Amino acid sequence: MRSELYIDGKWVEPKKGGTFPVINPATEEVVHHAPSGTAEDVDAAVEAARRAFDEGPWPRLSGAERARYLRAIAAGIRARQGELARLEVIDNGKPLPEAEWDIADAAGCFEFYAGLADELDAKREEAIALGDARFSSKAVKEPLGVAGAIIPWNYPLLMAAWKVAPALAAGCTVVLKPSELTPLTALELGAIADEAGLPEGVLNIVTGFGPDAGQPLADHPGVDKLAFTGSVPTGSRIMAAAARDIKKVSLELGGKSPFLVFGDSDLEQAVEWIMFGIFWNQGQVCSATSRVLVQDGLYDRLLDRLVAETQRIKIGNGLEEGTLLGPLVSKGQLEKVLAAIDKARADGAVVATGGTRASGFNTGYFVEPTVLVDVPLASDAWREEIFGPVVCVRPFADEAEAVRLANDSRYGLAAAVMSEDLNRAERVAAALRAGIVWINCSQPTFTEAPWGGYKQSGIGRELGRWGLENYLETKQITRFA
Ligand code: NAD
Repeated sequence: MRSELYIDGKWVEPKKGGTFPVINPATEEVVHHAPSGTAEDVDAAVEAARRAFDEGPWPRLSGAERARYLRAIAAGIRARQGELARLEVIDNGKPLPEAEWDIADAAGCFEFYAGLADELDAKREEAIALGDARFSSKAVKEPLGVAGAIIPWNYPLLMAAWKVAPALAAGCTVVLKPSELTPLTALELGAIADEAGLPEGVLNIVTGFGPDAGQPLADHPGVDKLAFTGSVPTGSRIMAAAARDIKKVSLELGGKSPFLVFGDSDLEQAVEWIMFGIFWNQGQVCSATSRVLVQDGLYDRLLDRLVAETQRIKIGNGLEEGTLLGPLVSKGQLEKVLAAIDKARADGAVVATGGTRASGFNTGYFVEPTVLVDVPLASDAWREEIFGPVVCVRPFADEAEAVRLANDSRYGLAAAVMSEDLNRAERVAAALRAGIVWINCSQPTFTEAPWGGYKQSGIGRELGRWGLENYLETKQITRFA
């Protein structure tokens, strides 16, 4: 485990010298003391990234040359997959098989953007037909500059990969600020990039708290673009900071995603996808389908089955074999989720199962997977992100009502629809105001496809070719005669 910041290709102590404890959420033990970066360290990191962009080779390499580094980073992640997955379990709490999956996805993300970096050489320039034959013109894609990437704790290395891989592919240099709750694997990414021979200053990693390290990065005039994933309130602060000097900004924020189950759906499959949609990663998933709407006729049978299956979920330390639900990431998150359940009860919701700290655990931030019914439409439980294993289930009569209830939200990240009638499923998918719609499934995420939200769930898209565009400028070059 690393105890220093990674700045300008070197491991350095934070200038003010502080550390913060990293706590294993399953045992409440302090497993490490991570370096606590502050504004002075952010200054050094941005200066290094600026130099690497303005004077270094990185933005001037061909896409194919940059792709070689990205593939070396992917290989470095794959070579250490088991170790990195275990680090994420003790950092975040998630079950080991989920962590292994995330680490493989992170490597896959670097490989995918290596492919796009290769293609960039051929696609960099596009001729433009002008109305005036005396002029010729072309549009040229260029790297945007220094990117400040600020990420959350729910997928520590994967969220880093979603930003660092496309930024590097585009030719940008990066300052990465991971969450203070899960700093371990982001620092290892620095080591892996270093071993891959990435030129100094191209990737810099400053761990620390949001106000101490995140805000100075958001405010820094040397940063050209802010790429943020996290909560709506912090996203709003990032956008305000970006507004001051017109930084480019992309935001991936929260959600309260609906899952519409029509009466013709297969019961077993519906229950399976509903559970995957809300209990994976302890429900700490931005796109978690936390509002389940079930058509009258199927509702009672589905609810019985969902409650029975939810009660069978094995809760435990993510390192124990067979664990399906680990602890929440922190004491603060546990308190927040329990308070949200209490508030739901006070507002009139009924707890069909769960609703408390998991019994049988003296330590660790474990909460029972929870199903809420009769949740008032005006209540926070129905409208606000809980970011825990808590699902609200509610009946609906017909398609129009289902779509209306689904779209009645300030969020619009994801939505899912289940029906044997694919015409209906496609029609509903078109009517849903969300950036991601799954048909007959929930949550599968592909590096090739765009990811991002409508409404208050964000601005811009990550992943796929859209993710690369986040880190590119378009220049017009027009010639006379
Ligand atoms: P958060 O907003 O509390 O923190 C996110 C990051 O911002 C952390 O690194 C934090 O240190 C930093 N930060 C905090 N205050 C800051 C400030 N004033 N200036 C700059 N940086 C600051 O979010 P979180 O609790 O870490 O993550 C959970 C949230 O992330 C949920 O709302 C979830 O929906 C969202 N999320 C969204 C996506 C997506 O793709 N849309 C993916 C994962 C998580």
